[in-house]
Amino acid sequence: MALLKALQRLFTVEKGNPALVQAQLRAFSKQIPLLYVILLANTAFVSATHYSLAPFFLTVELPSCFALLAIARLIGWWRMRHVKPSADDAASRLNSTVYLSAALGLAFMVWGLSLYPYGNVYTQSHVVFYMALTMIACVFCLMHLRAAAFVLALIVMVPFVVFFGLQGEVVLAAIAANMALVTGVMLFILSTHYSDFALMVAQRDNLETVNRETQRLSDANRKLAHHDSLTGLPNRRSFIAQAEARVNTIKAGGGAGFALGIVDLDGFKAVNDLYGHATGDALLIEASRRMAQIAGPSIVFARLGGDEFGILAAQDVDLAGFGRTLCEVLRQPYELDDVTAEVTSSCGFAEFGADCSTTSELFEHADYALYQAKDKAGGQTVVFSAIHRDNLRRVHEIDQALRNADLDHELALVYQPVFNTHSRVVVAVEALARWRSATLGSIGPAQFIAAAEKSSLINRVTLVLLRKLLNDLRMWPEHATASFNLSARTLASPDSMVQLLGLIQRSGINPARIEFEVTETALMIDFDAALRSLHMLRNMGSRIALDDFGTGYSSLSHVHQLPLDKIKIDRKFIGDMTKSAKAASVVKTVIDLCDNLGVVCVAEGVETEEQARLLESKGCSLAQGFYFGKPMPARDVLAAQQTGLARIRHAG
Ligand code: C2E
Ligand code: CA
Ligand code: CA
Repeated sequence: MALLKALQRLFTVEKGNPALVQAQLRAFSKQIPLLYVILLANTAFVSATHYSLAPFFLTVELPSCFALLAIARLIGWWRMRHVKPSADDAASRLNSTVYLSAALGLAFMVWGLSLYPYGNVYTQSHVVFYMALTMIACVFCLMHLRAAAFVLALIVMVPFVVFFGLQGEVVLAAIAANMALVTGVMLFILSTHYSDFALMVAQRDNLETVNRETQRLSDANRKLAHHDSLTGLPNRRSFIAQAEARVNTIKAGGGAGFALGIVDLDGFKAVNDLYGHATGDALLIEASRRMAQIAGPSIVFARLGGDEFGILAAQDVDLAGFGRTLCEVLRQPYELDDVTAEVTSSCGFAEFGADCSTTSELFEHADYALYQAKDKAGGQTVVFSAIHRDNLRRVHEIDQALRNADLDHELALVYQPVFNTHSRVVVAVEALARWRSATLGSIGPAQFIAAAEKSSLINRVTLVLLRKLLNDLRMWPEHATASFNLSARTLASPDSMVQLLGLIQRSGINPARIEFEVTETALMIDFDAALRSLHMLRNMGSRIALDDFGTGYSSLSHVHQLPLDKIKIDRKFIGDMTKSAKAASVVKTVIDLCDNLGVVCVAEGVETEEQARLLESKGCSLAQGFYFGKPMPARDVLAAQQTGLARIRHAG
């Protein structure tokens, strides 16, 4: 059965292998002219030698018909030479070639044998020669189409061997045997060659498939490397590369000026936390769609990461105007599946020009402008200006000086007392950092803490200050407590937290004497990490106060999750409290919130007796501010605590 199948395969076109049939057709097409030329030429020679011996019909008419047929076929092939047939077409053309080979083989064989009886021994040998050689040549030309070669060989060879083998002539029988042998060997070699050819085609086809897949993957990779997969916008890497290319062109003396912008969505984090990441993603996609709508030819948008987007704007763009349009577009409500979300955005622009010479400087300027935009109410655009440049230089100066500072000697702590609004006695103190730089003189904490926060210096600063606090606490009575401000970076870094806890434990000071103040904004940077840090501090026995309450963007839902002991109302509200009903109601709301949560409420920045009285009447038991006491050196704290003086006024 298997043998029969194998035999059948020898005589059929392998339709199921498209690559092979196409390759066969290609290879075979090149040999077709040779096949017909040999066939026609050999036939013409035999006709010529038999012209005077055999009937006209056999020597001229019949061969002419064959010739016409062959020429027609040849023209047909010639016409099709540039057409790339489908696999099915190729298979059917090969199939018809197999049938035609059988038909032509039969026709020429019968013609040859019918000429044999005419003439003498020479012409007869010519016929034998003609049949054998023409068949071998044609089989040779058909070597890429095994089925046709086998069919032709057998159709010509079997009658040939039978005919000459039975002539009763030993020489002819020997020739027949020779021919059978040669044909057998030839078919065997042809079969091997054909298998190699099929293997080569399969390998080439395989290689092409692999190449195509490699190309597809590399295209996909290239797209991934340059595009943000969520929004389809260029990604950070591509954005920086584009900005760099523009900078380089300008530096080389060509190209027009441009501006770099950074847009940040305010309130996006809350959407993500409240509705989940899928909704957050949908919002980002919609935001980028809106950006694309207003982009125009002079603007390129990119997603830099998270809720931050980059802009490259041509020189002629009115940056402030475009920023306004952009913020307005992004401010429109987002209809997402089953929720409607709203976010605002801030936008900072910096122009490439006299103030900067590198892409990273340009980036820094845009980032600074964005920071300024965020500092104002959300939904603002700021373009980097000369004033910003001077401020930024100052930040760099501070950063440099801080890096080279002898922190142990140059940093100090002062303490601002916290009073009971009713009894007016000091109940605690808040430690505030001071820096007297050897090169820059006194720098306020708002400035140098911000500079240190930008680099990892903040963790060193925190540890130096904490060591000083622990030393001071050691000098004070056991019941004296102090609060200590923790920066966002320290709170988010498990390493720094471990160092900080270790320092307290080694000092032998009771951790319950320390209260850590954290701001809402610091918590929001990495809420989960911050929450873990707060629990570590709480577990150790320390207390936690939420500082500057009311200025951050955190939602009330977060406050419930925090392990808090105290909330400090930001001094902005206390300052406005007596002038604005809105500020007064915020203060009242926070006092009530503290009541509900069971945490202590502290008012910051109390500057007048009126404010102090109002706070007392609203139920706020603790207050801090210049009216009660300015920050003072450690040596004065003891006296303040002992005497409980209501109005110690020291310079900070
Ligand atoms: P803060 O934690 O809100 O500290 C209170 C700030 O308000 C202090 O400014 C204090 O001097 C000032 N202040 C107190 N009472 C009044 C008042 O009645 N009126 C006005 N106008 N201001 C008042 P300071 O010392 O310049 O500190 C500024 C900020 O720097 C602090 O704000 C805190 O966020 C940060 N900071 C200070 N020390 C440290 C520290 O050791 N570590 C960290 N991470 N941050 C610190
Ligand atoms: Ca504070
Ligand atoms: Ca504060």
